[in-house]
Amino acid sequence: MTDTTAPAPAAEPEAPARAPITRLWAYARQHLRLLLIGGALSFAGGIVGLVQPLIAMDVIDTLAANESLTRPLLYLSAVVVVGGALSALGPYLMQIAGQDVVLTVRKQLIGRLVRLQVAEVDRLKPGDLVSRLTSDTNLLRTVASTTVIGGVTDSFMILGGIGLMAWLDPVLFGTTMAMVAMVTVMMLFIMPRIQNATVDSQKALGDMGSLLERIFSAFRTVKASGAEDHEIARLDRAATTARDKGVKASFWEALAGVAAFMPVNIAFLLVLGVGGARVASGAMEVGTLIGFLLLLFYLMGPISGLVASLSQLQTGLAAIHRVEEVANLDSEAAQDEPRATVAAGPARVVFEDVTFRYAEDLPFVHHGVTFASSGRGLTALVGPSGAGKTTVFSLIERFYPATTGSVSVDGIDVRDWPLEDLRGVIGYVEQDAPVLDGTLRENLVMANQHASEAEIEDVVKTARLTELVEKLPDGLESRIGYRGTTLSGGERQRVAIARALLRKPRLLLLDEATSQLDAANEASLKQVMLDAAEFTNVLVVAHRLSTVTSADQIVVFDAGVVRAVGTHAELVEKDDLYRDLAASQLLTAA
Ligand code: ADP
Ligand code: MG
Repeated sequence: MTDTTAPAPAAEPEAPARAPITRLWAYARQHLRLLLIGGALSFAGGIVGLVQPLIAMDVIDTLAANESLTRPLLYLSAVVVVGGALSALGPYLMQIAGQDVVLTVRKQLIGRLVRLQVAEVDRLKPGDLVSRLTSDTNLLRTVASTTVIGGVTDSFMILGGIGLMAWLDPVLFGTTMAMVAMVTVMMLFIMPRIQNATVDSQKALGDMGSLLERIFSAFRTVKASGAEDHEIARLDRAATTARDKGVKASFWEALAGVAAFMPVNIAFLLVLGVGGARVASGAMEVGTLIGFLLLLFYLMGPISGLVASLSQLQTGLAAIHRVEEVANLDSEAAQDEPRATVAAGPARVVFEDVTFRYAEDLPFVHHGVTFASSGRGLTALVGPSGAGKTTVFSLIERFYPATTGSVSVDGIDVRDWPLEDLRGVIGYVEQDAPVLDGTLRENLVMANQHASEAEIEDVVKTARLTELVEKLPDGLESRIGYRGTTLSGGERQRVAIARALLRKPRLLLLDEATSQLDAANEASLKQVMLDAAEFTNVLVVAHRLSTVTSADQIVVFDAGVVRAVGTHAELVEKDDLYRDLAASQLLTAA
């Protein structure tokens, strides 16, 4: 047994192609106007704050002169009110801009996540993706607002101060610049470390999400296996890692603060020393030295501000890094044009010498599959477990592309179909008949949001769900729990069939459940299939003899090839494998 205690490494999406800073800017730029207005108002608020003491002085002078206080007091009140309003409004607008940036990023991410290709989702962990959408994007809020504005204003102040220094005295300026170079080098060393630690910390949060998702997706199994303690320990470890990496980021941030302060202090002493000597030798005026020192003193504020902004920026860059990894995953393009008007009647499916493997490093699942199914009626796919039956459906739905050969629907290769049109033709019932959290009605109409009440009633009847709807406390509006836990297997199956039928499919793909249904459920399921086969082309992966015997055509799969096609009677006659399968009544579990 391998060690299962450490969280399994997540399939790492590739590193983004564009520099994170470019991406961050691309997002912030879309909300630049609000940012600038907010920044300008905050700045104006600061200026008004500066005016306040001047007016206060005026008040005192007026008092001394024994004149009327009305006007200066009026001014003072106005300044207080305006200053207060500005310094509230400015940051507020910047926060709005920050939220807008987060919204932009999230919308983009949502679009990508929901349209991810099935093959990508096979590799990824949903919990981690959730944390990228929620936690990582949240880090961008302050970065995209206050940090950007703060960083820009501080930079301007520093540049101004440095310009003045150069103008005052070139020698002292050179001394100061040496120190600035030192700060820069240290920042170049420290900043990436803040970013890396933040990426690690966020990654640990993602791991936590994945672990939790893993537990809840098999909650009863976790409990029944008595695995709570073990799972709690794993989650604790991920939480601890998040804490440790967070602490590490804070360490580098603190160091960045010191690293900025020390050289400036050294510069202060150096300037005092060098400047003092130059004043003594008469090369410089005392006034210049004092002015220079004051400038240096004044620069400390913006410098530590800038360093703090840069540290903050690293958090944002870490977040962008994780967000952008999702951007590099393959997703299916959304179809812009309205749906084409499609033909009516049962759709024709043709597989021609199809080979397929799930990934380049995996063995082939299909080794040349050829069969056809057209017109209304029931085609049953049978064969041992792992023969590639479910894969047939995945290829028809174009969840994956065939490696070679062609899969066509209505004579058109599925690769040439607009994806939404293709899937619009098909009703698909997965093997484990997924039901999503929500009401029964929501579960049905998810395949056809515009279904009328009459249409819903119709499929409920066809799928033999009337009894269930009557039994549930709120009928169609009853909530059926996460993954439909309040329903039985047979009920879930029929809900999934009703959903697929609501799509008015021209092709119904049904992956029969392998779990045992009671006789009544099995009979009704078969009747539902036969009813559907009256008006559409039904392909069913069959595990039950009763399903197979009523099929118009049976396709026997074995190890990735079609070994025989025919009716029950023909196949019993000519195919050994089929005869064995049929003899065992139950056509193997899959
Ligand atoms: P069947 O439905 O006939 O039992 P499947 O079509 O589900 O068989 O699977 C055929 C083979 O493909 C199996 O060996 C299975 O392990 C493999 N397989 C199925 N799905 C995937 C997947 N998403 N990624 C990789 N391999 C898969
Ligand atoms: Mg299967």
